[in-house]
Amino acid sequence: MRSEHPLDHYDAPEQRPHRARAATAAMVLAALVPLGFAGWLGWKAVAGSQDAGHSVAVGDVTAPALAPVQQGAQAGGSSSSAASSASSSAAASGSTGSSASASTPNSASSAATAAAKVPASSAHPLSGKTVVIDPGHNPDNGKYASEINKLVQIGNGSTTCDTTGTETDSGYLEADFTLDVARRARTLLEAEGAKVVFTQDGNTAWGPCVTQRAAIGNAAHADAAISIHGDGAGASDRGFHVILPAAVDQGGADNRAIVAPSRTLGLDVRSAFHSVTGEPFANYISGGSGLDVRSDLGGLNMSTVPKIFIECGNMRNATDAKEMTSASWRQLAAQGVVNGITAYLESGN
Ligand SMILES: [Zn+2]
Repeated sequence: MRSEHPLDHYDAPEQRPHRARAATAAMVLAALVPLGFAGWLGWKAVAGSQDAGHSVAVGDVTAPALAPVQQGAQAGGSSSSAASSASSSAAASGSTGSSASASTPNSASSAATAAAKVPASSAHPLSGKTVVIDPGHNPDNGKYASEINKLVQIGNGSTTCDTTGTETDSGYLEADFTLDVARRARTLLEAEGAKVVFTQDGNTAWGPCVTQRAAIGNAAHADAAISIHGDGAGASDRGFHVILPAAVDQGGADNRAIVAPSRTLGLDVRSAFHSVTGEPFANYISGGSGLDVRSDLGGLNMSTVPKIFIECGNMRNATDAKEMTSASWRQLAAQGVVNGITAYLESGN
């Protein structure tokens, strides 16, 4: 749930800021020509990453450099329904995928080294990475009004420790939605080798406070952090959006170092979520860009690791509510989030 006073909007069309994939791929391909078998492996890696760049289908983004056998194995896993669903909508969404394997080698020796590493990195592409997932709110916050209404400092002001969140007209709680999507995302991320840390897992009576949610990500030295939400806007408002941190350097908060990487993370998640779920960009925020920038969220102000929020849909809109109350759609939502995080992390972030 968002407050009624977004402090900042970002309406400009967004592009990934640091990709030069086509040129790099051409350089790699040229370097690989004399390398025989190693060159063939490298070609497979480059071809895979280019596919991922044009299509945000599930298998491509989670493992852009997979060998054919490994791709087949992954498609048979729990994400198979998301993969088939994503393939139909990916073409309309433009490019977002990325690959670390094709982004750096520019000599024959480094390209051969990269090719040799492909099988290991593909099996667990997020090995060594830590992702913090913050399931927004808490199903029991409503029982602890005095605790969650206590004010906490977020650098440029104060806000309540936490909020109850919104719900659908039929009473499906945002807090139940966020926890379910988060758990599904954790399963997918762990399958890719990531370490996943939750800020709460339905195991705390209330909260935690938004400041503590940020502190958990900071303490984990997360490579990426995401707070999962559903919005509570007007009945005719529809769609999802990603919230990026505005720079705050005030009152003990200094998130300036995470503004740029958080934007990159947000762009990747926006693209992947749209591709996998088919959910449109919110029609009521920032001119329909699917992006908002805010400085009034403690979870972003107090973060020292790249972090975004995603409002997966508007729970007060009948169309979105029908999706968000569906377990199969929540699986797609989780897959979209994970694909975006994976694209971000595999780009060397
Ligand atoms: Zn919320």
